[in-house]
Amino acid sequence: ITFRKLGLGEWLDQTLKELGIAKPSPVQRACVPHVLRGEDVIGCAQTGSGKTAAFALPILQKLAEDPFGVFALVLTPTRELAFQIADQFRALGSKLGLRDAVVIGGMEMTSQAVALSKRPHVVIATPGRLYDHFQSSQEMAGWFSRLRFLVLDEADRLLDVGFEKEMGGILKRLPQKRQTLLFSATMTQNLRQLQDTPMTGGKAPFH
Ligand code: AMP
Repeated sequence: ITFRKLGLGEWLDQTLKELGIAKPSPVQRACVPHVLRGEDVIGCAQTGSGKTAAFALPILQKLAEDPFGVFALVLTPTRELAFQIADQFRALGSKLGLRDAVVIGGMEMTSQAVALSKRPHVVIATPGRLYDHFQSSQEMAGWFSRLRFLVLDEADRLLDVGFEKEMGGILKRLPQKRQTLLFSATMTQNLRQLQDTPMTGGKAPFH
């Protein structure tokens, strides 16, 4: 099976070829068609399985069709992961002129707030710092009002008690009408419960 057969455009297929990526990995085969169809997804996949591209590719495909406002928010537990995810979005989205913002702790808030005010297509953030921005700016919620995709990378860690306040504060300010994509190396009780919550519409398929 090819990336084109999964429903991705010629330009993405070309980008992948240029990056030396020839055929879809199992998590990509399982997830991409569902995301393109507008469904929520819970993916069980380790780092190294190609899980970043499994959400980045269909998001970029949809973004190319309708670019307006902050389109996708990717939450991830660590700064290192945030940078890695941003790198993959930049590589895969190079033909789109993709604009992203990385919003993580340990860096200046002001320049991040300026970057967010410019409505990047994709925001890649750690929960603590994004929560701080929501707390300090009334405008933040408006900037995210057209959000189409929320991705929880390493969802089991994000949904752990350590991030409860931040995740709750962020989720309640995001529009409900969106696709939610969860990726986790392990299927924990936290994640199983999510299947029945309004966040995933109660109908998230497992892959
Ligand atoms: P990840 O699982 O997202 O951490 O990805 C690990 C690495 O695999 C990244 O450097 C990707 O560029 C690469 N990769 C993603 N998809 C594929 C694929 N279908 N075939 C080969 N490599 C891939």
